[in-house]
Amino acid sequence: MTSPFDQPPRFDSKQFREAQEILPGLFLSGALISESREQMKALGITHIIQVTDIPTPRFPGEFIYKVIPVPDMDETNLIKHFPDTFTFIHDALESGRKVLVHCQAGASRSVTIVCAYLMKEKKMSAAEALKHVQALRQVAEPNDGFLTQLLLYGAIEYDVNVNRTAYRRFLIASNAAQREMLGYIEDMTLAADPFNAPARVAATGVPGSTTAAMTARIQQGPLKCKKCRRALVARDSVVTHTPGQGQASFEYRKRDATLHISEAVQSDISKITPKAATVCQSYFIEPVEWIQELHGLEGKISCPKCDSKLGTFNWSGEQCSCGTWVTPAFMMHKGKVDG
Ligand SMILES: [Zn+2]
Ligand SMILES: [Zn+2]
Repeated sequence: MTSPFDQPPRFDSKQFREAQEILPGLFLSGALISESREQMKALGITHIIQVTDIPTPRFPGEFIYKVIPVPDMDETNLIKHFPDTFTFIHDALESGRKVLVHCQAGASRSVTIVCAYLMKEKKMSAAEALKHVQALRQVAEPNDGFLTQLLLYGAIEYDVNVNRTAYRRFLIASNAAQREMLGYIEDMTLAADPFNAPARVAATGVPGSTTAAMTARIQQGPLKCKKCRRALVARDSVVTHTPGQGQASFEYRKRDATLHISEAVQSDISKITPKAATVCQSYFIEPVEWIQELHGLEGKISCPKCDSKLGTFNWSGEQCSCGTWVTPAFMMHKGKVDG
């Protein structure tokens, strides 16, 4: 005889209150355990990563803390902390110590940090890492923004570096979202000026990591001002889109059914039949160091050498002549530059 009341509870409150050992010596929990010196000592914890809104370690001096004070929001940049949290966990475990990673509920922020560690240390995909954690802790459920960052972390091979195109565009997309929400950008990410740093990409690339496609783009040379020939944008910073295909964005998105990442909302523009000549009349680029007045919502893009007008920018996006919306939009007319 079964009734609905015999079903096992979806939410295991005991598991929620406890810490789970994800790998030997690596524990994950919510805030409750972190309030108990005795419980942590009983587990043998020596190191703690605390990812909470308020940066207040409970027992400083008794445990070694790494505090990351961030809110549990889609927009929070957690990926920039992955290199540090990896080293902190790795060094502690290597020396035979035990680490607790906790946030408030032990569901989103701390899970993301632990998944990132599993991905790099065990060469797991984001989905594999999350599955591994969820098998031990049911409530593990990073927010959509964090899931995207885990996928991005795998795509950039754990190399959280602004020279990685996918990471740089993630940061630029975050800048555009911040501009939208707050009306200003705190920490703007810009593509390097190829005029000042012609060898930048080649010089900073990790040996062996430069892909053939990347090499080809570098060899193709930068876009130049048609009038004065000044180098304007490296090939790597030219943003491509499929003509007439609804919306394009800088944001890193990779559809992965197992992670339930919400798909990009397509605008109605994608349903409009493209006109006969769906020719893109502009190059879309990343914001580059030499562009002036970038803190405004929109503005002009003029050549830094001869001042000839090249195009316009708009952090909220702009429509290409082919019908596609690109957000944010930094567009230069093809007639003004040599590609
Ligand atoms: Zn276009
Ligand atoms: Zn010029």
